[in-house]
Amino acid sequence: MTDHPRIPLAAVIGHPIAHSRSPALHNYWLKRYGIKGHYIPIDIVPVDLSRLLRTLPELGFVGCNVTIPHKEAILQIADVVTDRAALIGAANTLIFRKDGKIHADNTDGSGFIANLRQNAPDWKPASGPAVVLGAGGAARAVVAALIEVGVPEIRLANRTRARADAIRQDFGAKIHVHEWVQAPNLLDDAITVINTTSLGMTGKQEFHVPLHRLNPGALCNDLVYTPLKTQFLIEAEERGASVVDGLGMLLHQAAPGFERWFGTRPEVDEAARKAVLAA
Ligand code: NAP
Repeated sequence: MTDHPRIPLAAVIGHPIAHSRSPALHNYWLKRYGIKGHYIPIDIVPVDLSRLLRTLPELGFVGCNVTIPHKEAILQIADVVTDRAALIGAANTLIFRKDGKIHADNTDGSGFIANLRQNAPDWKPASGPAVVLGAGGAARAVVAALIEVGVPEIRLANRTRARADAIRQDFGAKIHVHEWVQAPNLLDDAITVINTTSLGMTGKQEFHVPLHRLNPGALCNDLVYTPLKTQFLIEAEERGASVVDGLGMLLHQAAPGFERWFGTRPEVDEAARKAVLAA
């Protein structure tokens, strides 16, 4: 019998998963680089996660992305967890190693920074405080990344204070926790302002944090990318701030996984953006 080389498979696992833009992106890159491979969405309910995950390598999968609601639970199942994924408390990229071990990493933080570096090259994060709105899973990745690029102070405000306090405990003294209602008062000398809440996302509550005290020299970024231009970004731009949308983070966080699974570092550019927006 001839031993045919296996076509590499990758996936995004979550529940629900139909909304995911990741298949459009990875399949665009596969086509663009002429790589024989496939990337598919797989709906896995939490109770089946551990069992089904272990079967994927046997079926020819080389890795997968992980999304809601599995990003935290996956850390208990993976055999090797990177330091940054452990610190963030969640993983979004898995590599199924040849030795059978599942390697879990979190690329949200590096994707977040790469997006800002690409779209706001003059941004100098170390030159002043950052304000982070929200303290969910994405906020943890954002906070880790901001500390890594030298932000001197991170003002963190979240509706549920306990989640912000937990970030302070895990990430240390650079984090200053404020009450959610105080968010408008943290903005006047902030160099960087990031919305990591789901406010303003299509189908969710509107973004309602007053921006009248926003530093016009700030760089504002919304992690929400549906719609692409959120109310937060529209208002920030009206007040003179620079703005970057959240789609670039989605593209950049995907690139390291694609490279590990399929052997080519993909380009994050306008064509990749268009491929995702068209999906
Ligand atoms: P999460 O863990 O569920 O956190 C949601 C955050 O939104 C929490 O801070 C939550 O506050 C806050 N929030 C929700 N409703 C609110 C309301 N009515 N008023 C005030 N705060 C409210 O979700 P996540 O994973 O961190 O994701 C957050 C957002 O980032 C989502 O929109 C997601 O799509 C986006 N995201 C984008 C990317 C990208 O690549 N661009 C990557 C990851 C995530 P409480 O703690 O009080 O509930």
